Amino acid sequence: MMTGALIRAVQPVGVVFEFHKHLKIRKGKNMKIFNTLSRRKEEFVPLEPGKVKMYVCGPTVYNFIHIGNARPMIVFDTVRRYFEYKGYEVNYVSNFTDVDDKIIKAALEEGVTAETISKRYIEECKKDMAAMNVKEATTHPLATEEIGGMLEMIHTLIKSGHAYQAEDGTVYFRTGSFKDYGKLSHKNLEELQSGFREIKVTGEEGKEDSSDFVLWKPKKEGEPFWESPWCQGRPGWHIECSVMSKKYLGDQIDIHAGGEDLIFPHHENEIAQSEAANGREFAKYWMHNAFLNIDNRKMSKSLGNFFTVREISEKYDLQVLRFFMLSAHYRSPLNFSADLMEASKNGLERILTGMEKLKDLEKGAAHTGGKAEEEEKISEAKALVEKYEAAMEDDFNTADAISAVFELVKLSNSTTDADSSREYVTFLKETLEKLCDVLGIITEKKAEVLDSEVEEMIKARKQARKEKNFALADEIRANLLNMGIVLEDTREGVKWKRV
Ligand code: AMP
Ligand code: ZN
Repeated sequence: MMTGALIRAVQPVGVVFEFHKHLKIRKGKNMKIFNTLSRRKEEFVPLEPGKVKMYVCGPTVYNFIHIGNARPMIVFDTVRRYFEYKGYEVNYVSNFTDVDDKIIKAALEEGVTAETISKRYIEECKKDMAAMNVKEATTHPLATEEIGGMLEMIHTLIKSGHAYQAEDGTVYFRTGSFKDYGKLSHKNLEELQSGFREIKVTGEEGKEDSSDFVLWKPKKEGEPFWESPWCQGRPGWHIECSVMSKKYLGDQIDIHAGGEDLIFPHHENEIAQSEAANGREFAKYWMHNAFLNIDNRKMSKSLGNFFTVREISEKYDLQVLRFFMLSAHYRSPLNFSADLMEASKNGLERILTGMEKLKDLEKGAAHTGGKAEEEEKISEAKALVEKYEAAMEDDFNTADAISAVFELVKLSNSTTDADSSREYVTFLKETLEKLCDVLGIITEKKAEVLDSEVEEMIKARKQARKEKNFALADEIRANLLNMGIVLEDTREGVKWKRV
């Protein structure tokens, strides 16, 4: 039977719901973002109240993505999730660069079309993103499907004197015509020009100035090309993002993001193109993640010191990779190591075990009224939520936010038992779930997969391959991977192992 004290103690449960309302009221009030443009933290003020327009430069698809490429995907997906948690509507656009020298090279090596290569690796990249719990973008535009918009913007730039056509048909952006050139990378155009004046790059003799950059270039033998008023050819790399951002988000956006290697020249050139063509400021906040390193050197395909996301998925659940990426502030370099991955695995396990306990208690706890001391603990938990939010609002400090989550798990573990009230347990569970969801951590422990289930799926894959339904076969393989099962096609047949 309930005593007076217990009845009073039920009150905080009402506060739980106010707590959810409370999240909406504080929308973006104290949000600080480090803006590469000003090189300082600025208060986030959206262009349109309650909405965020975000563009994140996506990968060039000529191979499986490596875990360096995964860093911006995870970081900016988390930024998006935090805005959504705060009640913002986020329009998130991220492109795939599907025409590029590296794609063409890979196609020639394999003796297939560039499209075959790019389509294959877009699909593979999407599977990796799903396994890392990166949400699909509102739009994932492809460069090859936006050529019309690129021709239009290049035409506008030529008409206004910001671009010119060289004799061979190449169209260059005239950097000297854009007075703010260098404002993002804090480079001085005169220095850029004088530094390179003497260098004549083969194939770029038609440039008026060495700092000018390509908007459109003539085709080479065996390359994909499109008709244009200047020559049969293909776009330079930078123009696609200016065009896709304009088409899907408008002339001006809130946030433009990517890895720090994109600051110059890619983002500097995007600003020049967009602002010269549209006549207004392009993006208000420029966010850049630092590199993921290995042995303190940037992980990259060209250096050959990389792991693909797929390789890592054979050793770890990709939730661990995600948790590892968020264990550091996104603007700090992060060194990849087995030790840090193990530490992330253990940390994640601690959270998931804490969550399991709450779920079990919720099923079992029959009390409908809280205990007096639970009221106090709810206040402590709410203070931790505030700590978490303060960390996230300080330029998305996920490292400190994760510390707050650990403290919440500790509080939960030490203050719940079979005697706890259902309200208290549910409050802790829902709070923990919400905070984990912003970080993209799935709080369900993976169900045990039965051998018989795996065998059935392998049989279905074999059948699909026999029927030449390779899409289905690949899907089954990806599903198995998500369940922690890796397949190996050997001469003796398919072998599988758990990871
Ligand atoms: P790319 O396919 O080279 O254009 O790269 C796609 C995205 O991954 C860009 O935002 C890059 O800045 C980012 N990126 C590439 N390598 C790394 C790395 N080692 N660490 C962090 N970000 C990276
Ligand atoms: Zn871009």
